[in-house]
Formats: sequence, structure tokens, C-alpha cells
Amino acid sequence: MNHFEYGPEGLACEGVSLAHIAAEVGTPVYVYSRATLERHFTVFRDALELAGVAAPLIAYAVKANSNVAVLKVLGDLGAGADTVSEGEVRRALSAGIPADRIVFSGVGKARREIQFALQVGVAEINVESEPELNLIAEVAAELGVRAKVAFRVNPDVAAGGHAKIATGKAENKFGVSFAEAARLYANASNNAALEPIGVACHIGSQITDLAPMRAAFSKMRGLVEQLLAEGLSVERLDLGGGLGVPYFNHPEPPSPADFATMVGEVTAGLPVRLAFEPGRVIAANAGVLVSEVIHVHERPEGRKFLVIDAAMNDLVRPAMYDAFHDIRPLVKRDGEAVYDVVGPVCETGDTFTRDRPMPPLAAGDLVAFMSAGAYGAAMASEYNTRPLVPEVLVDGDRFAVIRARPTYDAMLARDLVPDWV
Ligand SMILES: *Cc1c(COP(=O)(O)O)cnc(C)c1O
Repeated sequence: MNHFEYGPEGLACEGVSLAHIAAEVGTPVYVYSRATLERHFTVFRDALELAGVAAPLIAYAVKANSNVAVLKVLGDLGAGADTVSEGEVRRALSAGIPADRIVFSGVGKARREIQFALQVGVAEINVESEPELNLIAEVAAELGVRAKVAFRVNPDVAAGGHAKIATGKAENKFGVSFAEAARLYANASNNAALEPIGVACHIGSQITDLAPMRAAFSKMRGLVEQLLAEGLSVERLDLGGGLGVPYFNHPEPPSPADFATMVGEVTAGLPVRLAFEPGRVIAANAGVLVSEVIHVHERPEGRKFLVIDAAMNDLVRPAMYDAFHDIRPLVKRDGEAVYDVVGPVCETGDTFTRDRPMPPLAAGDLVAFMSAGAYGAAMASEYNTRPLVPEVLVDGDRFAVIRARPTYDAMLARDLVPDWV
């Protein structure tokens, strides 16, 4: 459920019409619903509680939507943060999320990022490889601290909505094997600079079938039991993120309740605290990208291009993952036309969709890309020297710009021309 509904002034986010925001802030613009973010988080948390999962750490995956205001909304509800860079750790901290709720993940953490994470005292560093473990031990010893580490295991299970977002197969770059995890865990527990606290997995994103998750989690349970049987201390099992969301063309994903029931079954009686790293399921349907139609360009052979002012640099998912977004006119219309919806960027890949039946539209009309709250603004760039798309947060009948569109002066001022050029 989300809070984007048609009202008397067209499509609205909670109590504010999107056309009003477009008029005030300009287009393209991302708009997020606070009530939807909060609802998605509480639904996820309550489902786990109902399934008997005691006091889970729900570390929202910052990369899905990393705006500090969004992080603060979630942090104030008790969310932790799953981060994959020093920048994301800094974002989480600046949103008021305490370090003891921050998980630091990622395949290639640099020495200075590890230093920073240890200095601020993150809850857990998820280790992805043996060389990384050695680097963490070295940095921790230099700083005179004990690094809390969890081992990210690659359970060799196929899952995820697209090859580019599947992470849990042995051929993917993520994590260590079960055998390596057991060996490294034992080694780490004999190293004064390391405190192994648990194991972690994250098998992919936009997963719409619980079976691969159940398979992976069962294997993880087996690993925890094996480590405990070896006399090692295991406090935490981090089951990652990846739960899919409805994009309106896909199979309906399992609900958080179905997911939680499965987790409750698989982990029943396991004496560890569970952690989760949901991103998309919290943020995707809490945001839209509003864009204006620049032209309707009809080719002699009949193909109709809806040229809009948003482009692949603002929302890259269709170009990168062949992702589907429902595209709705802000004002409901009768009739039907078939469009290729494209942006102004000089790439054929700057095509959001082809042959999409939609109500007939004209220059100046506004449209909303639905389900754009995750992996939208966070992945945006300034390619083609297009200003980074601004973001707006709605709360009931008020709204605020939570990231301003940069001015051209500010953009150009970042380039430095040496005096010898
Ligand atoms: C991307 C990522 C997530 C979040 O995935 P979603 O599909 O958005 O839930 C969680 N954990 C890790 C390690 C990730 O890389």
C-alpha cells in the first residue's frame, strides 16, 4: 500500500498534488511520501515480530535511497543502516542513526573506510573475503580496537529480478564459501584485533519467490549451528535484503508477512539475534519521479515518441536493468495511445519503455514514474550536464525540498581549469 492516489487535483502524494510540487520545484523531480516510508518499515518490523523474531536489527539499505531526510524518517522509527561506503556511513550518522545500528557491507572497502568505520564504532563490518579480513585485522590492530566482524557467505543460490542484481551465486563477486567462512571464523576468533560476531548473506534484489531465500537461509542456519558446535561464539545472523516489490507488471512478490513467516520457520530456536537489510521494499513504492512531456514526436511510419524532460541520468533502472515502471499521467485521461517514452540524453538507451499503451498526452502534460523511490535518485548522475534531479518529501499536506536542484553555476564551479591550460 502507498499514499499516491488520484484526487480532485490529479495524482497526489498524501495531501499534496504532484502538479503543485512540479509547479513549485520544477521538473523532473522525485517526490517521496513519509507516510509510505513509515508504513513500509513498520509493516516489515511488525511482520517479523508476529512471526516470533525477537528484537531484529532492521538495517535499512542506504543505497536504495540515501537522502538524509529519508534516513532520518526511518532512523527515528528505530531503523539501523546497511551501508556500503564511508559516504553512506556518514549519511547514516548525520541522520542520527547511532553507530551501533550501522552495518558496513561492500566488496571492496578501502583502508581509510575501514579506519573510519572502526573509529566511529559501527555495529558490524560484513567481511567479503580473506584479504579483506586481513586488512581489517591490520587496521584494527593499528587503532588498538577489536573489530566486530560478520562473514558474508555466498550461499550459491540463484535469485533476483535480473542478472545484474543477482548476488548469491558462486560466480558472483560477493562473499566467501561456507567452507571458507568456517575456517576464517575460527581464525578470526584467535585474533585479538577481531571479534567475529556472526554470519551474513544477501542473495540478490527484487526477489519475487521465497524458495531461494528459504534455501539460502536454511544453509545459513546450518552454518550457525556448525560454528556453535565448534564452540565458537555466534551472536548474529544477518539475512540481508532483497525482498521484491510490485512494479505492476511483475509477478506479485511475497508479502512481508509471508517473508517473515518463512524466516520464523527457518530460524526457530536458533540462539542468535537476526538482522535484515531491506532497501527496495521500504523505499521503492514510497517515491515517484515527476516529469513533463516536452514533445510528442510522431514518425511517418507511425511510431510515437513521448519525449520527456526526465532521462536515463535521472532514473537509470530501465536502461541498466530493463526495469519496468508504471507511468501515469497526473491528470486522468480517456482514450489510449501507444508510445515509446524517451528522455533527451544522446543515447539510444535513454528509452524508458517501448510500445507502452497510455492515455493520449501532449506537450506540457505531466507524468509520474511510479515505484521510483528506490534506486532512483540514489543512482542519478549529471550525465549530459543535466543538473542532479531534486528530491521532495511530503508529510500530510506539507512538503519540503530535501535535495535542491544544483544551479549551473554550482555545477560549473566544480570543474577546475589549471592556469597552464
Ligand atoms: C543492495 C543491498 C541490500 C538491499 O537490497 P534490496 O533489494 O534493496 O532490499 C541489502 N544488503 C546488501 C549487502 C546489499 O548490497
